[in-house]
Amino acid sequence: MSDYGLIINGNKVATEDSFPVLNPANEETVAHCPIATRDQLDDAVKAAADAFQSWSKVPDEERAAACGKIAEAITGHADELARLLTQEQGKPLSGEGSRFEVGGAAAWAGYTGSLTLPDKIIQDDENARIVQTRKPIGVVGSITPWNWPLMIAIWHVVPAIRAGNTVVIKPSPYTPLSTLRLVEILNECLPPGVLNCVTGEDELGQWMSEHPDIQKIIFTGSTATGKKVMGSAAVNLKRLTLELGGNDAGIVLDDVDPAAIAAGIIGGAFLNNGQTCAALKRLYVHESVYDELCDKLVDALAGIPMGNGLDEENLQGPIQNKMQFDKVVALLEDAKEQGGRVLCGGEIPDEPGYFMPYTLVADVSDGMRIVDEEQFGPLLPIIKYSDVDDALRRANASESGLGGSVWSSDTERASRIAAQLECGTAWVNQHGGIAPNIPFGGIKCSGIGVEFAEEGLQEYTTIQVVNISRAAA
Ligand code: NAD
Repeated sequence: MSDYGLIINGNKVATEDSFPVLNPANEETVAHCPIATRDQLDDAVKAAADAFQSWSKVPDEERAAACGKIAEAITGHADELARLLTQEQGKPLSGEGSRFEVGGAAAWAGYTGSLTLPDKIIQDDENARIVQTRKPIGVVGSITPWNWPLMIAIWHVVPAIRAGNTVVIKPSPYTPLSTLRLVEILNECLPPGVLNCVTGEDELGQWMSEHPDIQKIIFTGSTATGKKVMGSAAVNLKRLTLELGGNDAGIVLDDVDPAAIAAGIIGGAFLNNGQTCAALKRLYVHESVYDELCDKLVDALAGIPMGNGLDEENLQGPIQNKMQFDKVVALLEDAKEQGGRVLCGGEIPDEPGYFMPYTLVADVSDGMRIVDEEQFGPLLPIIKYSDVDDALRRANASESGLGGSVWSSDTERASRIAAQLECGTAWVNQHGGIAPNIPFGGIKCSGIGVEFAEEGLQEYTTIQVVNISRAAA
């Protein structure tokens, strides 16, 4: 029996089966999560489809106002949501942890509510009036990962309902509880059926991707799963936005002041314990500043307290789950076997929980797993280069294309190099900065489409052209 229920048509719905959700800081059960059956998914999709009939037609201002109420409701429950998030996800309450995530979710909801997609008049003369409008698509299926569960839920849900769609959201089985509670809270701001939440194992995501009555999938997760979603979605030509994995490179030029950039690099690499899609995951450093920058990066990481995130003092939590923990440890071991030099961290505490301190590995190169694969954890490879064109070539020799950065005292020079990075966002002297008014998305195998800003909102609509002839009138 679960302590939580699915949220279908505004009601909390019990399920026969459930599974335990573990706290990665101590491996104890936080609560049991309901497992939806296929029939219960159908119920959720039907509730959303029914609600679409009216929600798609309410005045635009009403939908904008609902987004404002959502922002207020998140803020009103911020403490409760942050504590639940810390317990199931592991991130600390403090620093750029759970409170930061909940605050970001509220801010994103509020800003997204203010966006509009006005009609575009293409022609208006004696021959014709041609107007391009944006219409909601229908039922949107949202599938989210475990790294930023609440923030990403809001990124999916709010633009969808702002544009007049209705939603069935499915969180990751690793972090389902905070989303179930969020959706319960948000249902107080919305008519029944507009926002529904189903939980279960991965197969539930597949059922959604192939569901004939879901018209769009917004998916955030790994590239491997994104490819499966794309295959299943072909059944009814679902619209797709895919935000997938990254292996972002940062290139440090020969003219930097290592002391000035070290904190920015650490922040870009280790936001959310490195479990961030657009974290800096490969650092290419010019040989002339390599040793000094390595020293400054080690200094920047000194004395950061790691432990259970419910303890206000801690600023680093555990890796979110055992599978990811084992993967990060394996990448570190492989790097060490191949001559990688551990500059700091690297020792796994002998206690419950999936803890690994921030770890920097120098003297590694392309072709090693730690560089070629997305590590998605508190582990950063630092690669030496001598020729910047060669560094660019290596940065771009990846199937991923989410973000990238160039670091230099000469921003003009850095911008010219950044423009040659093959990625959706190229940062200069920073890495990972995003905002609700800036479109964000990946190229190559990092995704399809963008989120945020007007361009992101457009992805929850289809274009209709109304073409009125005046010639015959
Ligand atoms: P994942 O792909 O394992 O799971 C993501 C979601 O997909 C989960 O809800 C899961 O249950 C569901 N799922 C699993 N199999 C499915 C299937 N066959 N069909 C449909 N859904 C299925 O990813 P994860 O491990 O939860 O998240 C980490 C990955 O997400 C990393 O690669 C990271 O880079 C990426 N990510 C990308 C962004 C971005 O904006 N580009 C943001 C955050 C995370």
